[in-house]
Amino acid sequence: MKNQYQNKLAHLTDEEIEILIERYYNGDKNSILLKEYNIDIQSSFLLKTFPMKTHNNELCPFCNIPMFSHRKSKSSVSKEIIFCQECKHTLNDTYCKCEACIDRKNKEQEIREQEREIIDNINKNILMEEYLYDKNMPIDIEELDIRDKLYISALLRTALSEDLTDIKSLSSVLLTLAPTEEFRGKIISYLRSRKIIIFSPNTPVDSLVFNNDEIEQCRLFDTVFRLNVSQDEDDIKIENLLHLNVEENIDEELKLELWLEIGLYECVEFLYARMEEYNLPKNHIGEKTISSIKEALKEFSISQVYNFIWGASINASDFYKNSHVSKKHAVNTIAGTILRRSEKAIAENRETKKFGRDWNYPQTIISEVFFNNILKIGDEGFDSVINLKI
Ligand SMILES: [Zn+2]
Ligand SMILES: [Zn+2]
Repeated sequence: MKNQYQNKLAHLTDEEIEILIERYYNGDKNSILLKEYNIDIQSSFLLKTFPMKTHNNELCPFCNIPMFSHRKSKSSVSKEIIFCQECKHTLNDTYCKCEACIDRKNKEQEIREQEREIIDNINKNILMEEYLYDKNMPIDIEELDIRDKLYISALLRTALSEDLTDIKSLSSVLLTLAPTEEFRGKIISYLRSRKIIIFSPNTPVDSLVFNNDEIEQCRLFDTVFRLNVSQDEDDIKIENLLHLNVEENIDEELKLELWLEIGLYECVEFLYARMEEYNLPKNHIGEKTISSIKEALKEFSISQVYNFIWGASINASDFYKNSHVSKKHAVNTIAGTILRRSEKAIAENRETKKFGRDWNYPQTIISEVFFNNILKIGDEGFDSVINLKI
């Protein structure tokens, strides 16, 4: 069917129309063509009078008939859109909305979902097998040392489900287990490697990576775990680990080690926050900085090391702004500054001002459990130099 514009060429033969179109694309002026072919239309509408271009070499895959395209103006640079007049299918268009394409996509989607379901079911079985196997070999609660108990207690307080069975994925809980992602990952990996926590049958299978009938990896913060301590069905045991009241004589060395570990990560978290404030990249923080913080923590409280970190990050930011050095170079000065400032404070034997916690980074659960329940010294843990004489 011809449209109202195409009717304007009704007095011309097909051959004449073909030549007219050819002359149009060869650059002949519209006004000349209108006059010569006796076409009664505004010159800007000439293009609209042309019949669609037939593509005899492109058959619609659904209707098996030649496809068409609208005529483009000679100045147009847009891609030619070839379509079927019958079913509206568009050639080479991934997003074609014709009925046949939508139908095909739905079927493909359905097949994908079925395949997904089959694989998910296989993986769920692998998960269940591993769970039952691990569950048969629980860790005896008597074998747990204070590090195990601290990590478990903090993890349970952060993520234990209402019915006391599962340890929810960290990505789904609001409370913060420990300062920095590295430390959070370390805690989970540690408990998992010791089989103190095992994959819960409720963990979404897509949080796990399977290989040859085995769970090869997991996305630590998306995985649901379950406590695997002897008689883990016994709520009393869970309550004990959750509320952790340490009375027995515990390994003094290990206590110091844990204090240093928590202090170190609290300092690193504070440093990350400062760097974010000054728009400096934290991926350049390396072993050198970590070891300078550890050194400082031998002589100063966490709150005092915050002071050195605060000064060192301002220095790094000023150095970057004033000296035309790279951000990496600026960040690399932080370790040295922390070391120099702490050594100077020792040499001059003067009191270093204590900083408070950053408002945006309140004390984490592991820090609370350690200082309140294990050491029972509360904020002293943050404000005192690491030692056991308190
Ligand atoms: Zn078609
Ligand atoms: Zn289509």
